[in-house]
Amino acid sequence: MSDTDDLCRDLILDHFKNPRNHGRLPEPTVDVEGVNPLCGDHIQLTLAVNGEKVDDIRVEGRGCSISQASASIMTQAVKGKTFGECESLVREFKRLMLENAPADTLPEDLEDAAALEGVKKFPARIKCAVLSWNTLTEALKAYRESRAPVRKKHEEQ
Ligand code: ZN
Repeated sequence: MSDTDDLCRDLILDHFKNPRNHGRLPEPTVDVEGVNPLCGDHIQLTLAVNGEKVDDIRVEGRGCSISQASASIMTQAVKGKTFGECESLVREFKRLMLENAPADTLPEDLEDAAALEGVKKFPARIKCAVLSWNTLTEALKAYRESRAPVRKKHEEQ
């Protein structure tokens, strides 16, 4: 195992054990559940949205280390960003995970997300890694359409 693999594993474990933005906002604008039935991963995202900006975001959940670490990394990347910026970060992350885009072309906000690149070696786990990012995308889309508090569930197919 290379040093890079070790560093990536350590970073993923750190996000798993000490998740960033952990918990639930008391009065969220957006409250979405994300489920990956293949692995049994659950995440609950709560967002405080102002205009088209994510003022605050929290996540809690249960499941494998990849799903939970990826959710922590996602909240860290998108907190304080506009919807457009969030969507662009999701796009870049999915290019890394699904289209073999090289990790060194990722924007700075996705520095920690690059650690998840090794997950590509285990195709069954890619859904674990993208769950929170797809759930966020659904949440932003639903809010854009309704402009009202959103409660929703996203399920990986
Ligand atoms: Zn999983």
